[in-house]
Amino acid sequence: MEFKDFSRSINHTKLDKFADYLASGKIMGTTCKKCGSRYYPPRADCKKCFSDGMDWVELKGRGKLITFTSINVPPDYFDVGFKNLTPPFSKARYTACPIGILRLDNGLSIMGWIPGIALKEISVGLELVAVPVTLPDGTVTIKLCD
Ligand SMILES: [Zn+2]
Repeated sequence: MEFKDFSRSINHTKLDKFADYLASGKIMGTTCKKCGSRYYPPRADCKKCFSDGMDWVELKGRGKLITFTSINVPPDYFDVGFKNLTPPFSKARYTACPIGILRLDNGLSIMGWIPGIALKEISVGLELVAVPVTLPDGTVTIKLCD
């Protein structure tokens, strides 16, 4: 998968494999071989010791929601399970699309859409799991689900 299928603003990075991993169902971070620092989103170079020796590490398991908000006019490409899609500004116009940040046990945080849970049922501390999802147009994003 091309990195542009994950990021709308960046076509190529030293971390192109991140998009390939997402397309294969894995959310990956990096760990510095020299000092052990962990990163998500993944980094190609360690910001603590400046080493470029990194290992890919899969991030999986449940985490706790540390914050969330709702976007009422999400981008056109957004369609990971919300209903009432109506153009022209957005296919999901005026439909609350919750988005949140999940903190994993290892301390790393993953941002993702929360399409399967009603906004009124979402609260900080909710235990969720982050899962890659391929949208109808072929782009890949991350959703947080039960
Ligand atoms: Zn390092």
